[in-house]
Amino acid sequence: MSGKAIAHTHFDRAANLINLEAYMRRILLAPFREVTVELPVRMDDGRIEVFTGYRIQHNGARGPCKGGIRYHPEADHDEVLGLATIMTWKTALMDIPFGGAKGGVTVDPKKLSKLELERLTRRFTQRIAIVLGPYRDIPAPDVNTNAQVMAWILDEYSSRQGYTPAVVTGKPVSLGGSLGREEATGRGVMYVMEEYARDFGIAVKGSRVVIQGFGNVGGHLARLLVTEAGAKVVAVSDVDGGIYNEQGLDVPGLLAHTAQRRPVAEWKGGKRITNEELWAVPCDWLVPAALGGVITKETNARTLDCKVVVEGANEPTTPTADLILEERGIPVVPDFLANAGGVTVSYYEWAQNLQQYRWTHEQVNKELKATITKAYAAVRDLAKEKAVAFRTAAYGIALQRVAEAERLRGN
Ligand code: NAD
Repeated sequence: MSGKAIAHTHFDRAANLINLEAYMRRILLAPFREVTVELPVRMDDGRIEVFTGYRIQHNGARGPCKGGIRYHPEADHDEVLGLATIMTWKTALMDIPFGGAKGGVTVDPKKLSKLELERLTRRFTQRIAIVLGPYRDIPAPDVNTNAQVMAWILDEYSSRQGYTPAVVTGKPVSLGGSLGREEATGRGVMYVMEEYARDFGIAVKGSRVVIQGFGNVGGHLARLLVTEAGAKVVAVSDVDGGIYNEQGLDVPGLLAHTAQRRPVAEWKGGKRITNEELWAVPCDWLVPAALGGVITKETNARTLDCKVVVEGANEPTTPTADLILEERGIPVVPDFLANAGGVTVSYYEWAQNLQQYRWTHEQVNKELKATITKAYAAVRDLAKEKAVAFRTAAYGIALQRVAEAERLRGN
């Protein structure tokens, strides 16, 4: 099932919950603007290779469009549209003044040299610059992009428009990035887990956690869970396989290992497992933090051995798998609540850039906790009131807010 189809199925359930009018459903489902670009890039050996890139702005009723850029061989129009749509609901649920967008380039960045990656990023920025801007559309990092890629976007955009740090977030701190932005998504997942734990009697301290993905989200989450929340991370994986230790992994040691660009499966502090075996590891919290569509009816939905699924990745659970988990009594904390810490601190970064004023790391964390906790409480309360899953409640709140902005703006 494509990202777009997943987003639509969840949408319908929530639109029914809040009795959304038919015309508003059409407005909220259709993207505002889609840009597809061809990207000729000179490779190190002199050849020119042509890549395809997308920037899709789903909705901007509540503010400038906001969303990451992903470099992945499977990034395509439907995936980017699904992710752009989720960004609209995520910014609305967090109640930050943005709409939703996403970008993607169909490329395997591991096959590019650093210079090729820079040339690709600059070409992509040139071709989509016309739809970007601090009050129009603001990219950020996503899968396989990072602060360095954001720095190239800033430089390319600013070289034509004048210095414009607020055109992109997730930048290096020395170029106007926010303290706390890099770890913000993982930190937000931890805050949501702590709130959920308090309400539903599943402790975080001393609990067993399994995480798929050990990149920005999974790596920081694992570190924070172990060093700040006192949890045991018993298994993690990356694209090449996983590692398991019943006693809990030495996460700082594992992070030092992966910082050398080595796969987690080569770490000596645990037993090597496959990505399939990871799903069967018994745990309290299971956090998919890699790609979408990994919990499915056909593979693992009936066999996951966890108490709660917390979606660190975007769209990791297909709608049919969602229903199976519901039947099995395994609650799912949905992506656009659980992983909203990144875009929330991106909002603080944007605000700091516009004000030319810097916040402390403590201030960023405090504000993040307040914002994500408030959103969590709203979802929990609506889920209880309407006797629905967290995901449906989260969608209900987000749809209501975006629909209200659309109605107030009029036609
Ligand atoms: P990343 O590129 O930093 O890390 C991705 C990790 O997933 C890597 O460890 C990679 O090896 C692993 N991975 C890739 N394919 C895999 C596979 N088939 N099986 C197992 N592991 C695999 O990306 P990220 O920024 O951490 O993003 C991860 C997810 O979180 C994505 O779904 C992204 O959309 C979502 N997300 C990211 C942010 C953010 O701020 N970075 C914010 C919200 C949501």
